[in-house]
Amino acid sequence: MFEKSQRPKKRLFLALVLISVLLLAGVVYLLWHIMAPGLGNISSYLPAIVGGLILLLLVFSLFALFLMALVVAGVPLFRLFQGMAWKFVNVFFPLAVFFGRLFNIGKERIERSFIALSNHLFQQKKIIVAPERLLLLLPHCLQRGDCPYKITQDVDNCRQCGGCRIGDLLRICRAYGVNMAVAPGGTLARKAVMSIRPKAVLAVACERDLTSGIQDVFPLPAFGVLNERPNGPCFNTVVDTQLVEKTIRRIIGRGDDYGKPA
Ligand code: SF4
Repeated sequence: MFEKSQRPKKRLFLALVLISVLLLAGVVYLLWHIMAPGLGNISSYLPAIVGGLILLLLVFSLFALFLMALVVAGVPLFRLFQGMAWKFVNVFFPLAVFFGRLFNIGKERIERSFIALSNHLFQQKKIIVAPERLLLLLPHCLQRGDCPYKITQDVDNCRQCGGCRIGDLLRICRAYGVNMAVAPGGTLARKAVMSIRPKAVLAVACERDLTSGIQDVFPLPAFGVLNERPNGPCFNTVVDTQLVEKTIRRIIGRGDDYGKPA
């Protein structure tokens, strides 16, 4: 999906989170330093208690960051630690974007890094679900713009005419018994997840929608595949159907790997 030079770097997100944690720690320390005399007036123990809590939070954040670094390095972790790293990735995303802006790093680059890291965690956790508990969630822009059939209510309305990738993906989903839904926006995507109640989601979308979608459905595991936009955003987009099929096979336990990194 990406040329080698365009491959999203998981380390970018990691570096931004580290900077965020350290800067936040500096700000909180300053605040504590200013507030300490006032706290001391209330109780002589209070500055130490508040300072201790702040230190505990910092140590915990650095530990979670260390776990994330281990995950990126490919070190196998206990399930509990994998879960912690996953939670941390999601919680710290807004901060990474905020500090990325300060360093003039484009939001899209950070989103790609986030998706790559999130997918990496998904793979590390070796998530495998039954086909009927997997949902392939697709964006409406994959449907050809002039297609007269309404597929957002019911994907079975697609005639599989070959005009866009929806037909191919529907064929793949039917072959494996996997659920498929096409959503024009986040609200309907959430509705599809609520009604199908999958155990894992394989989502295709652009950087922005994938990032918000992965965070929306968290802690439900979601693997993201980026769509390609030869006609610009939100119109007649395409996706590598072989990569989607490979990923489906892996998630339902019929393949050896997840294909190329998304
Ligand atoms: S495959 Fe054909 S019928 Fe199905 S959504 Fe695409 S254009 Fe419409």
